[in-house]
Amino acid sequence: MPRRFKPLFLSATIPTGTVVTHNPHAQRLAMATDAPSVALGKFAMSLNITAITLRTLHRIHQQLADLTDQISAGPRQITGRTKHLEGAEAKLTIVQNDIKKAKLLADQKQLQLRSAESKLVDLESKLNACKTNREYQTLRDQIAADRMATSVLEGEILEALELIDGIRKTLPVAEAEVASAKKLLADVKSRVNTEAATLDSHVATVKLELDGVERDLPADSRESYQRMIKSKGADAMAAVDGQSCGGCFQQITGNMVAELKMSRVVACRSCGRLLYLPESSSGS
Ligand SMILES: [Zn+2]
Repeated sequence: MPRRFKPLFLSATIPTGTVVTHNPHAQRLAMATDAPSVALGKFAMSLNITAITLRTLHRIHQQLADLTDQISAGPRQITGRTKHLEGAEAKLTIVQNDIKKAKLLADQKQLQLRSAESKLVDLESKLNACKTNREYQTLRDQIAADRMATSVLEGEILEALELIDGIRKTLPVAEAEVASAKKLLADVKSRVNTEAATLDSHVATVKLELDGVERDLPADSRESYQRMIKSKGADAMAAVDGQSCGGCFQQITGNMVAELKMSRVVACRSCGRLLYLPESSSGS
């Protein structure tokens, strides 16, 4: 047997066809629908009250869930853009550090070159003071070796300067990426702030509507409904989809459908959602 709840609203007594409902909102809803049931008279109308109310509540809770999603999407977008900016800034820092390192290396090599050159001048000045051919030759060899070393150093300095130029060329791209990431972040922040105000006012409107519908729930149904909403939110309800629960897609019994048609509150045995008949089936 399906789990039974008390009907949300006092409804028809079948033999007499008398409609008793203490629910002005539900009545309004029932009146508002132009489903064929209205044509069948008061009795058919009352049978639709539960479905219509659950459908309305479900729609409102889905709207609230959707609005909540949209509200929480804002900070997520800001976080995403902030990370993007941090990434661009990190890349720029790497480029800047690479330039610093390359400059330091070039400076060190230039210092080495200057000291090697002054050493050469010193050695050359000593050539005339040599007393033997052997001493002179040794000094000449030393000078030749040192010249070779300085020319290698000059080559390395040139390479270091070229390296700096090469890295510097990537600097504008890295800087542009940071600027663009900053702009994107500022844009998303301003958009999220603007949207947040609109979304908050939508939430307030929808909550007001929800309060109106919930106020009409009979006290005995309200408690179990609130419990379900608290634990499941919009997933506390599901439309019947053919012979299945529209929430978990498990099949429901013909008995359950029959109970639903009698305005009884039926919960899905598999997922516990409060079921209601969709507009097309409950209205006909
Ligand atoms: Zn289910």
